[in-house]
Amino acid sequence: MYGSNKWRKDNHEQALISGRKSDKNRYDETKKEIFELLGNHCNNPSCPIPVEKMDVRCLQIDHVLNNGGEHRRKFGGVCNVHYYASILKEIKAGSRDYDLLCPYCNWLKRFNGGKL
Ligand SMILES: [Zn+2]
Repeated sequence: MYGSNKWRKDNHEQALISGRKSDKNRYDETKKEIFELLGNHCNNPSCPIPVEKMDVRCLQIDHVLNNGGEHRRKFGGVCNVHYYASILKEIKAGSRDYDLLCPYCNWLKRFNGGKL
């Protein structure tokens, strides 16, 4: 009895882990595609970090219109795969609402009240 419960529990956990893994893959792929469409570099012309020093993994998607919080709330307040998929769809449809910024420029923009 105990054994079969444990078996079920283990399998359930395994299913959760693999489910999470495929979600993570989809998330990474979607994010990668967005980054490529946005040029894979910080889009602030006066970014102080040289392009060759920039690790693309550090780049962040910037909401040009500064409505990121509002957009995220529609997806439950988290940066999940559905959130990124919707951004990708918008970019592919020709949206100019998104840009890539490095964390430095992203924070600078925030400190400057949404301007770079
Ligand atoms: Zn930058």
